[in-house]
Amino acid sequence: MTEDIRTRLDRVQERIHRAAVRAGRNAHEITLIAVSKTFDAATVQSAVDAGARDFGENRVQEALTKAPLVRGDHIRWHLIGHLQSNKARAALEIFDVIHSIDSLSLVERLDRISGELGKRPVVLVQVDLGQEATKTGATEGELPEIVEALGHAAHLDFRGLMTLPPFFEDAEEARGYFRRLREIREGINHARTSEHHLTELSMGMSHDFEVAIEEGATMVRVGTAIFGERVKH
Ligand SMILES: *Cc1c(COP(=O)(O)O)cnc(C)c1O
Repeated sequence: MTEDIRTRLDRVQERIHRAAVRAGRNAHEITLIAVSKTFDAATVQSAVDAGARDFGENRVQEALTKAPLVRGDHIRWHLIGHLQSNKARAALEIFDVIHSIDSLSLVERLDRISGELGKRPVVLVQVDLGQEATKTGATEGELPEIVEALGHAAHLDFRGLMTLPPFFEDAEEARGYFRRLREIREGINHARTSEHHLTELSMGMSHDFEVAIEEGATMVRVGTAIFGERVKH
């Protein structure tokens, strides 16, 4: 098992490296998030032992039970699934990065609770570019007020955007979505001083992360290519 994960992890890292080189980018600016949802703590531990440090989970409760069982220095937990407001406090106890900010009320709640806990997590806004196909994230129309609110959120470190395009058999079809997310980030940065520029784009999964890297991804969320097929979602 450990050997398997190590081999797959190395292969994914190699593909990230090659995609970065192809795009004239430095592979060091791309963080591989190993999406460990549905896999148990022992499996995550194998990935830690193989060198993975960033893990993505889509359910707060699942992460809360798994994370304390995983040993290793500098491990970061990323919430990549929708966050219900009643789970905000629990999420802040465990996650270092929240990719799924999708409403004004969530910004306000996370900011307040982060302040109470003395934390300042990295947050990204999830943008729904996929008309109805994904149905998660803020629409482009909702984005300006969320971005504005994050500008005033003292206890949230707003760094960028995340998206989850519809599934395409041919990864090339996702390219337009990845490009659009980059353009949206550029539009936001245009109105901000350089020290407040958004640097992160969380986009790309097992079947399309190379295309996402070519379009500027700084965080890729890869599950299946590292851990194998999930039994259930
Ligand atoms: C499950 C999931 C992934 C990983 O998907 P794979 O196809 O297994 O790589 C990435 N992002 C999000 C938001 C997910 O829910």
